[in-house]
Amino acid sequence: MRRRNVYLDHAATTHVCGEALQAMMPHFTSTFGNSSSIHSFGRDAEKALATAREHVAATIGARPDEIYFTSGATEANNWILTALANAHPSKRIIISQIEHPSVVETCEALAKQGFKIDRVRVDENGIISVSDLVSKLSKPAAVVSIMAANNEVGTIQYLNTISNLCRERGVLFHTDATQAISSIFIDVNDMHIHALSLSSHKIYGPKGIGALYIKNGLNVAKYMHGGHQERGMRAGTVNVAGAVGFGEAARVAMRDSNVNNARIRSLRDYMIMQIEQRIQGAKLNGHRSQRLPGNINFSFSCVEGEAILMQLDFAGIAVSTGSACTSKTLQRSHVLSAMGVPYDLINGSIRFSLGRGTTKSDIDYTIFHLEAAIKKVRSISAVR
Ligand code: PMP
Repeated sequence: MRRRNVYLDHAATTHVCGEALQAMMPHFTSTFGNSSSIHSFGRDAEKALATAREHVAATIGARPDEIYFTSGATEANNWILTALANAHPSKRIIISQIEHPSVVETCEALAKQGFKIDRVRVDENGIISVSDLVSKLSKPAAVVSIMAANNEVGTIQYLNTISNLCRERGVLFHTDATQAISSIFIDVNDMHIHALSLSSHKIYGPKGIGALYIKNGLNVAKYMHGGHQERGMRAGTVNVAGAVGFGEAARVAMRDSNVNNARIRSLRDYMIMQIEQRIQGAKLNGHRSQRLPGNINFSFSCVEGEAILMQLDFAGIAVSTGSACTSKTLQRSHVLSAMGVPYDLINGSIRFSLGRGTTKSDIDYTIFHLEAAIKKVRSISAVR
C-alpha cells in the first residue's frame, strides 16, 4: 500500500477551514483595530466581533450578549466553576467522574480551598448514573457540571434528563460542550442550561479562542480585572481575528452539520465493524450508538497503546491514546477507569477521531496498518 498521511486525531484539534481562515485574514492586516477604540478602525473590529458573537451564540440558541469570548474551553471551565463555587454558601460542586482535566483540576484546586467536590458515577458505557445524580442532588450544591460529550470515548450524555433534575432541585447546570458542538443539538433555553463552555479549534476554527455562555441574569463574578472588554467580565484586548475565525467556523459547522455528521458517522460505523471483524481481542469503549459521529475508542488486549500509536505514526497515521491533554503524562485514563475497563485494556486503548477530511481509503489504509501493528506488537510481547 502506498504511504499516505492520515489524520485521525480530530478530537485533539482540527485544521482551520478555508472560510474561517479567509474571514480572519483582514483582521491581521487592514482591519487590525482594537475593538475597544472609538475611531473607525476600532468600530470595524467591533462590528466583526459582534457578527462573530452572533454566529457563536446561534450554535446553542443563546443571545449574543450571553457569549463571552475566552482563550478556550479550559479558561471557560476554570472561570465558571470558580465563580459559581464562590458565589454559593454550600461550598459544594457536583461533577461527573469523566470530566475533562480543565474541570477536574479546577475542582481539585477548589477542594484545596475547602470546597467539597462530588463525582457522579458513570456506567460501563460512560453514561452518568441518574440515581447517583439524584442522591448527590439531595444536598445543596453551587452547580452541577457535566460534559455534553466525552473527549476520550465520545459518549453523549442525556443532557435533558440531567438539566431537568437540576431544575427540579433548583441547582445551576453547567455543561462543557467542547466536543459536542455541531455534533449534537443543543438549545440552552429549551434544555435549561445556565452556563456552557465552547472551544473554536475543535470545530475547524483557530486555537486560543473559545467562549463561555452565561445565561442572562446569572450572578457570575468577572474573570479578569482590567479594561471593560467583554462587558467588563473578561478584561484584555479581544483576540478579534481569533473570534472572527471562531464565528465563521461555527457558522460553517452549523450550516453543514447534517451532511458532515451523517458522512462521518457512517465511516465511523464502517471502521468499528472492520476492527471488530478483523482484529481479535478488540473491545469498543464508550456507548455504541449514543456517541459522537467521529469518535472510535478501542482497547486491544496484550498490547501497549503507545506501541501501536508509534507503529501507526511510522505509517503516517495520527491517532491518540487517551486524550491529548493526558497522553504525554502516561497516566492511566480516569475515564476508562471510571467505566470499569480493566487496567491492561486501559493500557491498550487507542482513540481514532474522524473528521471532515477523512475518507474511506484513509480508513482502509489505517485498518491495514493497525492489523499489522497489533500482530507485530503482540508477537514481540509473546517472545518476551
Ligand atoms: N473540554 C473538553 C471536553 C475538551 O476536549 C477540551 C480540549 N481537549 C477542553 C475542554 C479544553 O479546550 P481548549 O483546548 O479550548 O482549552
